[in-house]
Amino acid sequence: MTASYRPNQIISSEHEEQQISLLLNGLSAMALLFLTGIGLKAWFADHHTHAIVLWLFNIPVLANMLWYFRTGNRLAQKAGLLITVALLFAYLIASGGEGNTGPLWFYVFPPLLFFLTSLKGGTAILLFCYLLAIIVFQFPNLPGVAAEYSTDFKIRFFATLTFESIFCFVLEAGRLQARNKLLKLAESHEKAARTDELTGLANRRDMHNRLAAEFSRYQRSGHHFSVVLIDLDLFKRVNDDFGHDAGDAALRHFASLVRKVIRQTDIAARWGGEEFLILLPDTTLLQALTLAERLRAEVAATEFRHQQQILPVTISAGVCSISKAGSVNELLKLADINLYSAKEDGRNRIAPRVRSQDSQPAAENPA
Ligand code: GH3
Ligand code: MG
Ligand code: MG
Repeated sequence: MTASYRPNQIISSEHEEQQISLLLNGLSAMALLFLTGIGLKAWFADHHTHAIVLWLFNIPVLANMLWYFRTGNRLAQKAGLLITVALLFAYLIASGGEGNTGPLWFYVFPPLLFFLTSLKGGTAILLFCYLLAIIVFQFPNLPGVAAEYSTDFKIRFFATLTFESIFCFVLEAGRLQARNKLLKLAESHEKAARTDELTGLANRRDMHNRLAAEFSRYQRSGHHFSVVLIDLDLFKRVNDDFGHDAGDAALRHFASLVRKVIRQTDIAARWGGEEFLILLPDTTLLQALTLAERLRAEVAATEFRHQQQILPVTISAGVCSISKAGSVNELLKLADINLYSAKEDGRNRIAPRVRSQDSQPAAENPA
């Protein structure tokens, strides 16, 4: 029903993913520049094979970028970039790169890995890469391995890489924890901004948004909806005779009755004070009147108790369907006029009154 209505989200994971993709595009563009530049340097230093291999790595980087622009598939973008970077670093370690400095590039890997994958996944991939590096370092005669490193270099390389990896892990774990706390906080604030504190129902602001969304849906696809504006009868007297706490308890009890009577797709809000508004999507005037009458009868039959005292609680309601109004404001105004006439007629009743002939064509006649 109200599928088009989405409460504002302060932090959205979609937005976060968009930013990561943007960053990856930037990193990919930088990688293209570096591969081309360092390849050129190697070429002029007469390391032609090395230069060509570096230039060839431009192909998967570029292909990954183009594929992302074409499909927008972020998972493929991350996986493509990680695999390309891992292969490049494996090549640099195995070949030694220029002057055996190839392994230095490996320091880029841990932060990138933890940023793009999960902590567990990143650790597993990193351990696997460590294993590959150890094999390359220990067995320089393996096919494809052209570099030989001194023992001092190997010890320092692994020690510094291990420290870097641990720091990356700790920082990423801290970042994720802070992010999740912030998300929860934002979520609870956002919910609080939409909820009435006393009754737990939607508040007036939220109901205005939902009415606007439902009205657009009605304009787009002609789905009718109705509203029931409810006012608790002579509520000032309840407060005066039994105290404000008793009045609050009655409001909470009434809200729980509303929740029980309405459908899951209906929205009930505390419209203000002792007034409530129910939005009924895909509901004709007659169906809305039936629901309002059921609620009225339920309230009249319920004992509202507070500290052993029975509170006299009844409701009056004005009902209106969107087919009778040209805008949400007019709809609310008409519902208010109906509520006023229910009060005028003696309270504990619903307006407009159902005429007997109305009850026949309910299903076929929207509104
Ligand atoms: P009517 O049948 O014409 O609506 O009479 P009424 O007494 O309900 O109407 P009136 O507008 O004179 O009084 C509304 C009362 O509702 C007065 C106010 O103290 C009480 N009220 C509004 N909000 C709250 C609330 O949050 N808690 C409590 N306990 N009372 C509230
Ligand atoms: Mg009132
Ligand atoms: Mg009242």
